[in-house]
Amino acid sequence: MRDLTSSLRLTLIWLGIGTFAIIYWVAFFQPPLVAIYLSLLFMIVAALWFIPRLFSQLRSEHGALLKRVASLEKKLRADRRIIRGLADGIDVAILICNQRGIVQYANRAAKDLFQVKDPVRRALSAITVSTEVNTVFKEALSSQRRVESEVTFKLPDEVPTVVQVWADRSEPDRVFVTVHDMSRLRHLERVRQDFVANVSHELRTPLTTIRALAETLDDSPPPEFIELGHDYLSRIISEVDRLTAITTDLLTLAHAESRTAPRERLDFAQTVSEVLGDFEPAAKQKGLELTYTAEPCEIVGNRDQLTQVVLNLLDNALKYTPRGTIQVQLSSSGGYAKLTVRDTGIGIPVDDQQRIFERFYRVDKGRSRESGGTGLGLSIVRHIIEQHEGTCVVDSILGLGTTFRVEIPLAAEENSRIEYGSVGV
Ligand code: ADP
Repeated sequence: MRDLTSSLRLTLIWLGIGTFAIIYWVAFFQPPLVAIYLSLLFMIVAALWFIPRLFSQLRSEHGALLKRVASLEKKLRADRRIIRGLADGIDVAILICNQRGIVQYANRAAKDLFQVKDPVRRALSAITVSTEVNTVFKEALSSQRRVESEVTFKLPDEVPTVVQVWADRSEPDRVFVTVHDMSRLRHLERVRQDFVANVSHELRTPLTTIRALAETLDDSPPPEFIELGHDYLSRIISEVDRLTAITTDLLTLAHAESRTAPRERLDFAQTVSEVLGDFEPAAKQKGLELTYTAEPCEIVGNRDQLTQVVLNLLDNALKYTPRGTIQVQLSSSGGYAKLTVRDTGIGIPVDDQQRIFERFYRVDKGRSRESGGTGLGLSIVRHIIEQHEGTCVVDSILGLGTTFRVEIPLAAEENSRIEYGSVGV
């Protein structure tokens, strides 16, 4: 455009100079009519020279402008796609309304949360079915500042959220509404509170017993002290052992959750075989048959943590199997190392099968305590396996037995050459 103006200016200057020169020459040497004719002629010639150039210049400027507009449009569309992608990707519900509360835009999270396919051009209050949101909306408009409030929607299940509303300062008819779903956070808070309550409860029971036993001994006259002493002291020791077992398991669990355990390439079959060796005497003593079949399974993991997994599963199988067999199988297929621990023990009721992985959950509290259980063993197993990007599931029939299946991804390149056959341990 600047080129066009300068060429127009240049042409007008030359036109002016030429006209002035002709008028000057004619005024002195020619009659007035000739002067007018000549001036007109000069102007026509100048116009004929200038107009085509002007048009060609205009055409090229127009072409350049169109190209710019097209590239700006393209960039705008790309930016809009990015912003929409971002808005649809985040798990916060975003709604943009006008001042009357009519929705102009809603991201995917908003559509999912309020279960509306097309909220645009509908009233915010109709979509959210909440008078509280309306109140927050009005307050934000009247105060011209961001207003935040905790709102629980019934959709139809209760969803606790934090709603924020604020008007756009650059465009008064644009109001932003965000809804943060707090269900997960609240659930985590509840889990944490339950956990602290459970830990306190678990610790209090043995501590109370220890205190009561020690007090009785302290109050007893010497002959009674001698009589009770041995029994009471051994009970105190066993309660202290329980406390130690709980704190050890809590530390193991915290370590499993912290994701700091170093990893190495290892043959899982070897880890399982080592743990099995330690269990052989106990199984024999209980009259249980313990079998192991394995094939090499190279995985990337933390040796101590994986040892703990096998240990906990075998410990449970041993604890909850009064007679019969415990079969341990390790195979590799579909890119996973698959460990199965199957027993012919007491089994687990269907309703309890998913809950046994929760911290401190036991099917039979008394039985678990008697056998020295803390209720944390399976929780540790699941945490460690999930840290190794694996899964752990249970399958059980009450009175017939239980099978735990663990799957861990195999290491990227499998180049193990170790051969294992079917062995009875
Ligand atoms: P615990 O220390 O009590 O064994 P776990 O977390 O290891 O705690 O197990 C939780 C509960 O799951 C146990 O109390 C028990 O009721 C049940 N359980 C676990 N393994 C078995 C099994 N192999 N057979 C029967 N019940 C089992």
